[in-house]
Amino acid sequence: MVEGNSREYGLVLVILSILASLIICLDLKTIYENRRLKEELNDNLLFERNIDTLNEKINEYINIDETIENKKEEYFNSIRKLEDQILEGKSDAKIAYLTFDDGPYQLTNQVLDILKENDVKATFFVLGKDAEDRYKRIVNEGHTLANHTYYHNIGKGLYRSPESFMSQVNQLEDYLYNITGYKTNLVRFPGGSETANTFHVRDSIIEQLHNKGYKYVDWTCETGDGSSKRLQQKSEWEWYKDTCNGQKIMVLLMHDYHEGTVKILPEIINDLKSQGYLILPLSNKSVMVK
Ligand SMILES: [Zn+2]
Repeated sequence: MVEGNSREYGLVLVILSILASLIICLDLKTIYENRRLKEELNDNLLFERNIDTLNEKINEYINIDETIENKKEEYFNSIRKLEDQILEGKSDAKIAYLTFDDGPYQLTNQVLDILKENDVKATFFVLGKDAEDRYKRIVNEGHTLANHTYYHNIGKGLYRSPESFMSQVNQLEDYLYNITGYKTNLVRFPGGSETANTFHVRDSIIEQLHNKGYKYVDWTCETGDGSSKRLQQKSEWEWYKDTCNGQKIMVLLMHDYHEGTVKILPEIINDLKSQGYLILPLSNKSVMVK
């Protein structure tokens, strides 16, 4: 009996230990399974977090144009504030707006190089030309690209009627927008607003420009490079010194087809800087635009 009992007891022990190892095996499996699931979950969380970050980045890039536009607006608003303070006598700052008309020409690249070397921004009143690369450079390098009508044909119909003028503004606006993706709202009359006035169309054009959200700007001083007659009287440098002298906010008229101006451009920039001028790009928020 005792022998029989101990055999049964042994059998029970064997069965129990088999069960125990089965349970241990199952437990271990569960532990491993849990750990794997946990890791997978962490991986997924990490993945989701990465996706969220990526989505945020992508959204930033989708809105980058808007962000740039907002920053530009802030920038031009602060320039306007400074202009007001200067005019109210609350600031000793001085501002020079360098403007280049009638381009782009091949020479425009040299102008852009000089501006880049001196870290200053200018304004280009351009025409409709085969100059895709230079329109893009003007915009990409932070200058103001502005409208000077498509053909600039003062003597041949530009000022025949407000409509003939506006159709050229519109034509150039579309042309520039297709090339650069930038829509300008600043215009300069070929020959200045006084020239438009001699054709008796200035006021109606201004009204139409304003209806379109545009403003125009003339100039307050120049290098005299728009006419060879003037340059027979005195040099570009003398024109610059005589006409710009003492202005708190100046709009300097130059032409980026004229080598004489390009040659003295670094000196003009140095001279303005040494007199304490801030050299800035124009916008249609400026006090100088009408
Ligand atoms: Zn012009």
